[in-house]
Amino acid sequence: MAENDVDLFVIGAGSGGVRAARIASSYGARVMVAEEFRVGGTCVIRGCVPKKLLVYASRFGHEFEDAAGFGWTVPEQPTFSWPTLIANKDREIARLEAAYVATLERWKVQIARARAVIEDEHTVRLSTGARVRAETILIATGGWPHMGPKIPGLEHVISSNEALHLAELPKRIVVQGGGYIAVEFACIFAGLGSKVTLVYRGENILRGFDDDIREHLRLEMQARGIKVLCGHTVDAVEKAGDDYAVMLSDGSAIAADKVMFAIGRRPNVMGIGCEALKMECHEHGGIQVDEYSRTSVPNIYAVGDVTNRVNLTPVAIREGHAFADTLYGGKPTKVDHVNVPTAVFSEPELGVIGLTEAQARAQFDTIDIYKTSFRPMKATLSGRAGRVFMKLLVDAASDKVVGCHIAGPDAGEMIQLIGIAVKMGATKTDFDATMAVHPTMAEELVTMRDKAASYTRAKAAE
Ligand code: NDP
Repeated sequence: MAENDVDLFVIGAGSGGVRAARIASSYGARVMVAEEFRVGGTCVIRGCVPKKLLVYASRFGHEFEDAAGFGWTVPEQPTFSWPTLIANKDREIARLEAAYVATLERWKVQIARARAVIEDEHTVRLSTGARVRAETILIATGGWPHMGPKIPGLEHVISSNEALHLAELPKRIVVQGGGYIAVEFACIFAGLGSKVTLVYRGENILRGFDDDIREHLRLEMQARGIKVLCGHTVDAVEKAGDDYAVMLSDGSAIAADKVMFAIGRRPNVMGIGCEALKMECHEHGGIQVDEYSRTSVPNIYAVGDVTNRVNLTPVAIREGHAFADTLYGGKPTKVDHVNVPTAVFSEPELGVIGLTEAQARAQFDTIDIYKTSFRPMKATLSGRAGRVFMKLLVDAASDKVVGCHIAGPDAGEMIQLIGIAVKMGATKTDFDATMAVHPTMAEELVTMRDKAASYTRAKAAE
């Protein structure tokens, strides 16, 4: 048998691949990682990080308005430069990319700046023509924006990839989709001053989230001037001079400078050699793996969005780390995908962990619901209208908090910490026993005493 060039070959230098490569190398494995685009992957290069920088930018408008109530004089029309924001954002992304490269180099991980295709179970062919033999292969190729069926004018439509690099801020933009990306970008553009229409095919945005939080967010977005059209799809996009006419399913049309689709992402499985190896995939496209991230080919593993489990950066990182611990650290580690906290960086921000009310009512005999909605203290002087909404779901039998849903400033920060309590199995009594930090918004989470409702599941007929 031919000698292996490396112990581990990682395809894709995103969040999951970089972590796996670094940890495997720290255990003494000889590791090579291939990246065809930029080291850092979706999260760093064209996802979470640049998006969050744009989110920060988009919130300044409100801050200037608020400042007046606190005695500050700000110019009536503060000016904003999109090109400056994009240039500064690009500089920060370049810095982060360099930091990722430096980390890999420090850990003696070889980086191949090339596309990699699996030729057989132990051979990877690079676009440079080189072939590398590896004992183990890890696929960490992530996902890619899905643009939906081929509608007329689809070539005019951008995805989140391009939205991060527009030459100028669109005056009017139509965003199709009702998930994380559509909602976040709708709020970014609206915050920066674009006229935004969000077109969503279902009854209400953010399907899969708690119904109260969905309703709260939609109303808040509308109150901030975003037009939310539920029950509609974009059927065609026609170029009309410098503008686009966005044709909707009800026959109406909207004029816009840009049209963006954020209608889901698909795992990057095509063209990397999975078909030839007959690697098993789910019907929804992701590579099928066991709880140790092993594919149906015994020496090939996969982590992150390409497996379509829970498509979030911290999950990919955990999966990559667990893979390296299992294979090279002598510590077989499974990743727990239950109770993953998550945030939507909309305006207002959402922070969520655990079950929705509908899921909790289906799962437990009796569910107690605690809710609160209030104007944050900052709004008293600023005069801003938005409200904070919080909801706790408690299994009455065990008293455990099984769901927490927050909409309001810094909800993402709050849910990270509440996540520890919920993950540990904290009860409502534990929440109540925790002293409030006053005056904060988060104190409401430990001072909610009155049940908003209690639901007992109908017993199945004997
Ligand atoms: P999502 O899967 O979250 O949402 C896709 C949306 O597009 C849904 O509203 C869906 O509708 C709609 N849709 C799907 N197909 C069509 C179609 N053919 N025509 C019209 N509408 C359609 O995908 P995103 O693109 O928003 O995000 C991808 C993933 O990235 C997320 O699942 C998340 O895991 C991750 N992400 C996480 C972020 C965070 O943590 N803050 C931020 C951004 C992304 P329906 O509901 O009816 O299916």
